[in-house]
Amino acid sequence: MDFRPTPRAIAAVELLVPFVRDELLPLEPALARDGFVALLPVLEGVREKARKTTLFAAHLPESQGGAGLTLTEFAAVGEILGRSPLGHYVFNCQAPDVGNMEILNEHGTPDQKARFLAPLAAGTVRSSFTMTEPEHPGSNPTWLGTTARLEDDHWVIRGHKWFTTGFEGCAFTICMAVTEPEADPHGRASMIIVPADTPGLTHVGNLSVMGHRGGGWASHGEVMFHDARVPEENLLGTRGMGFVIAQHRLGPGRIHHCMRWIGICERALDILCRHAATREIAPGRPLGTRQMVQQWIAESRAEIHGARLMVLHAAWRIEHEGPYAAREEISLIKFTVARTLQRVLDRAIQGLGGLGMTDDTPLAFWYAHERAARIYDGADEVHIEAVAKRILRGYGMGGR
Ligand SMILES: Cc1cc2nc3c(=O)[nH]c(=O)nc-3n(C[C@H](O)[C@H](O)[C@H](O)COP(=O)(O)OP(=O)(O)OC[C@H]3O[C@@H](n4cnc5c(N)ncnc54)[C@H](O)[C@@H]3O)c2cc1C
Repeated sequence: MDFRPTPRAIAAVELLVPFVRDELLPLEPALARDGFVALLPVLEGVREKARKTTLFAAHLPESQGGAGLTLTEFAAVGEILGRSPLGHYVFNCQAPDVGNMEILNEHGTPDQKARFLAPLAAGTVRSSFTMTEPEHPGSNPTWLGTTARLEDDHWVIRGHKWFTTGFEGCAFTICMAVTEPEADPHGRASMIIVPADTPGLTHVGNLSVMGHRGGGWASHGEVMFHDARVPEENLLGTRGMGFVIAQHRLGPGRIHHCMRWIGICERALDILCRHAATREIAPGRPLGTRQMVQQWIAESRAEIHGARLMVLHAAWRIEHEGPYAAREEISLIKFTVARTLQRVLDRAIQGLGGLGMTDDTPLAFWYAHERAARIYDGADEVHIEAVAKRILRGYGMGGR
């Protein structure tokens, strides 16, 4: 494969580096002090500036208002935006909306695209994706409690969900529910688009996560479906296609997350290096003169570099051979980059000492909230097991 960035990727990076530096980093103290919801009026202004660039919702094809970037080109965008906790939101490519836009674009009917994708792509509404349930293991998504039965041309949905990121204030959610209980496990569930104001769909509240309930996009909701009814045409794709669509969502989705995490790693390493070069631990002796700190810096550089190459390779394989062929690479990057992220953040916090624990830098925010990287989009262990089983099958080992 050719690792050279394309002219479009270079142009995107050249546009975004100063944007993130000048427009987003200055907002970080207010984000840490007042939270995401309080910052929204300011963010809307910055979003207006982002809209005027060519990179708003850049992951979408040009026909849907995006930049038509390839997955590897968008990977470069994701890394730069990841340097700020606000980058993806401001450029309208934040999870879970980015994944919802991709599946609506790929599987939506013309009417679904007009009603749900168009406003999402324009950034005038937000959406959410609701699959995980408190009573069932998210790690085994074939075992869901939420059901949808067809009655008078309407889906009647009943179930209990949680960790629905950004449910508060969203215009609609895409719900994974069992519609074909008699089918094979991977053919039982379907995705159904449910407007948030549907009677019977209730927001129980936001979960308290690492001490924060958050708000709006930056929250994780608990949701109940009490016989919520939506028209039959709100089915996304065909009946029983939920897992197929989920795979379409998660392949590129993991590239998006991994590149965002690499952006975080780069920022954390930059913060560590600036500190190591200037913080004197004795007169005239900056911290960076200590070998242990040098080791953190060099190891972080090596791990980030390796992680980026792995992700670009996975993205390239998805582009050329599709997510199914690239499933092993997708699993490998998911757990490798999530762990790299945790190690790099940990070293940066350690190197900053007490300062690393304060909210004067975004390190503590990321350390708390990105711990989830090892859990969402498939817990690390699920990916590790899948990779190891595939390898062992090559040695004749079968079974579950
Ligand atoms: C911040 C955050 C945001 C999220 N956003 C969304 C969202 O928008 N929409 C949504 O639907 N869900 C969302 N989730 C839910 C997420 O996808 C699930 O938490 C995840 O799939 C794990 O499911 P679970 O929590 O039910 O854990 P379980 O499935 O109960 O697993 C618990 C633990 O068991 C271990 N484990 C599981 N299987 C194996 C195995 N085979 N071998 C060894 N160990 C194993 C893992 O360590 C795992 O962490 C989010 C989660 C978080 C933390």
